[in-house]
Amino acid sequence: MARVYNFSAGPAVLPEEVLQQAASEMLNYRGCGMSVMEMSHRSKIYQQILATAEADIRELMNIPENYRVLFLQGGAYQQFAAVPMNLMKNRVADYIITGQWAKKAWQEAQLFGTANAVASSADKGFSYIPDCSDLPISENADYVYICENNTIYGTKFHTLPNTKGKPLVADVSSCFLSEPVDVTKYGMLYGGVQKNIGPAGVVIAIIREDLITEDVLPGTPTMLRYKTHADAGSLFNTPPAYGIYICGLVFQWLKRIGGLSAIEARNQEKAAVLYDFLDSSDLFHGTVVKQDRSLMNVPFVTGDEKLDAEFVKAAEAAGFVNLKGHRTVGGMRASIYNAMPLEGVQKLVAFMKDFERRK
Ligand SMILES: *Cc1c(COP(=O)(O)O)cnc(C)c1O
Repeated sequence: MARVYNFSAGPAVLPEEVLQQAASEMLNYRGCGMSVMEMSHRSKIYQQILATAEADIRELMNIPENYRVLFLQGGAYQQFAAVPMNLMKNRVADYIITGQWAKKAWQEAQLFGTANAVASSADKGFSYIPDCSDLPISENADYVYICENNTIYGTKFHTLPNTKGKPLVADVSSCFLSEPVDVTKYGMLYGGVQKNIGPAGVVIAIIREDLITEDVLPGTPTMLRYKTHADAGSLFNTPPAYGIYICGLVFQWLKRIGGLSAIEARNQEKAAVLYDFLDSSDLFHGTVVKQDRSLMNVPFVTGDEKLDAEFVKAAEAAGFVNLKGHRTVGGMRASIYNAMPLEGVQKLVAFMKDFERRK
């Protein structure tokens, strides 16, 4: 069977070139006689894979020297606890609630201290990003927290909040490496890789060095301390070794195609094809305020649940899979991450036009 166009929100499509390379190296990685899956994480050859991956993401994102790159496990979800455990020195933090992932992080932080919701877009079903230019940031807040791209709702912070000097912590799971970023604007950014970078099981955290200290909340487990992993160069214990290797191949793919400016241009072009159609269609329409639209996750509806279900089914039969919206919001969602080719979006739009014509 041919490969389908996979619009899953995550785990998600990966570049075909990367999958082919991984397949060709599966049994015998570059003449060493074994798979990357089988080698010691302390071996020279694996350490080279890890070091190259770190160097490549540093180059791609232009990560300054005073930031550490950590390859972790536990999903983005584990960071909802690790962030307060490591950073909540005053036990106060401010959260901006733009969807379920931000809300979950905020709720988890309440286990550890005072987590204030300083802004929210819950009033309109998280269909926009609140104005964050002058929020009531707490004087003793240890950090301000955002979910930068809201995977479920399809909104994105195109302007970062004014944190009034407090470190910004951002969950970038679903927009990681989708466009150039200014890392210096963050105290920490992190994400699960299964949306835009690699297989589930790896979390990449990029943290300003001065925020990585021994002064963590009492009871913070060794494995959840950033310092543990920073001091050990992400080799404190067995890392998700094969997953990191695939992330490394994706970094190299990104470098080959021209880095983050090039992928941003591709992503803008792809998103425009879909959004332009949604804006002109009589049947389908987007659900998000225009200026806050995500380049990665595009939710849309017909306004009729039965018709939505019919569309999802017909699309699947035609090879466009995983278009069903998140189970909590319904409708449709096309996730068009880095590895989704332009052709996939063009063909989807052609299919949508045809579906509309037949209605
Ligand atoms: C998918 C997702 C998560 C959850 O990630 P897990 O790795 O399953 O814990 C958190 N935040 C965002 C923005 C996501 O897209």
